[in-house]
Amino acid sequence: MVTATSPEQKVKIGQTKLLINNEWVESVSGKRFETINPTTGEVICDVAEADAADVDKAVKAAKRAFEGGEWRNMSATRRGELLYKLADLIEQNIDELARLETLDNGKTLKDAYGDLHLVLRCYRYYAGWADKVHGKTIPINGPYLCYTRHEPVGVVGQIIPWNFPLLMQAWKLSPALATGNVVVMKTAEQTPLSALRVGELIVEAGFPPGVVNILSGYGPTAGAAIARHMDVDKLAFTGSTEVGHLVMEAAARSNLKRVTLELGGKSPNIVFADADMDAAIEGAHKSLFFNQGQCCNAGSRLFVEEKCYDEFVAKSVEKAKNRLVGDPFDSKTQQGPQVDRDQFDRVMNYIEAGMREGANMMCGGHRVGDRGYFIEPTVFANVTNDMTIAQEEIFGPVMSIIKFKDIEEAIHLANTTMYGLAAGVWTKDITKAHRVANSVRAGTVWVNCYHVFDAAAPFGGFKQSGMGRELGEYCLEHYTEVKTVTVQL
Ligand code: ADP
Repeated sequence: MVTATSPEQKVKIGQTKLLINNEWVESVSGKRFETINPTTGEVICDVAEADAADVDKAVKAAKRAFEGGEWRNMSATRRGELLYKLADLIEQNIDELARLETLDNGKTLKDAYGDLHLVLRCYRYYAGWADKVHGKTIPINGPYLCYTRHEPVGVVGQIIPWNFPLLMQAWKLSPALATGNVVVMKTAEQTPLSALRVGELIVEAGFPPGVVNILSGYGPTAGAAIARHMDVDKLAFTGSTEVGHLVMEAAARSNLKRVTLELGGKSPNIVFADADMDAAIEGAHKSLFFNQGQCCNAGSRLFVEEKCYDEFVAKSVEKAKNRLVGDPFDSKTQQGPQVDRDQFDRVMNYIEAGMREGANMMCGGHRVGDRGYFIEPTVFANVTNDMTIAQEEIFGPVMSIIKFKDIEEAIHLANTTMYGLAAGVWTKDITKAHRVANSVRAGTVWVNCYHVFDAAAPFGGFKQSGMGRELGEYCLEHYTEVKTVTVQL
């Protein structure tokens, strides 16, 4: 099927069924749901809708693959080769995948390519790890040989969000597969298409049946069924803090499956007056507006030192006003639509809350155009840290600029939040930079930069931003169980 946002923008749609046991199947109920193009508000196509019965089928297939046969007996090196092969196939299909991502999510085509480069790096990074995960020999007392094995956890349930569909799929699949697990993945209902296309490439790469199962479906049905399933050994979830609480509770009430969570954020981005001002303004702009503001790690509380506050606000407003909003397929566009109607409404409600609570709206605040879910880049000044827009995750193109006097106040305000995902600091003073980096309770701190991601660098949250780490070597421990073997000599 081919669809179009404009005549020259044809995008090929791949599979729309569920991937279970390397077969493409309709859902048990036969239900399907529509996925919407956020640029136009029109239906792209419909996809099979999984719920509890399909989750059960997929878990059974995964369990079979884990307990016997090809996957279990496969060498670690071969597992790595399959991941490399998958990366190569993704690279060969990069144009098609980027366009599919832009169509379903609304992110600019340029950003979709950016995501895909990180996707490739992620699969290849963990492909390299596949045959390098090993235990230790331990000198215990007595005539024994004691050693540890790092074994796969088993059936892993993975629930991913819509803001970076291909990238979140890669972050979750690659470490799980490198370490020998089997996966039942549920994609976000807003953006099912690109992950299904990767499903086709997974089959083509030669992964055995049941190793990767991909389900499109809704959270309270398919997602909840994964979270409470008795044969899912581990759950890896990325999404809202609210749903993080729910899935953790479901894990506790069912089989105590291991849980890792990557949740919301309200990340402080702290600009001192001694910073390279142009770099800080540019960095703060990107930290917030990138991906339509739909990043869990967005620099959504922008703290600016009193001495440079007015200049910083004026220049940031200028930048926001010049941001090009429009067709995400157009190479000049910097900002596409929000992902769907719900997110659009949610962001508009936060803009209203900002005005109601007395923040100064310096620009933006309105819808752009009369179709699709576009919102003007919006900047609020004179925000205080206790306002709703400074405490709750907006997930949209809304910048909140808060004034601070000195480093003590900046650190105190930065930590006055239930979240702890990321932080940024902009200064030329190395001592100040390290003091902030050491004092902010967040899983990632960027100094004089922001949104710098690499498959090798761990990412995850303090406090209610989650538990566990994705990426890097640290992630591997969440996908392995340590087994101690003691042998009488
Ligand atoms: P957002 O508000 O950004 O869409 P969510 O946390 O609602 O974030 O969604 C993230 C992922 O969690 C999606 O795949 C969604 O379908 C899933 N999800 C939503 N509700 C539940 C739930 N009750 N149980 C399991 N998964 C859920």
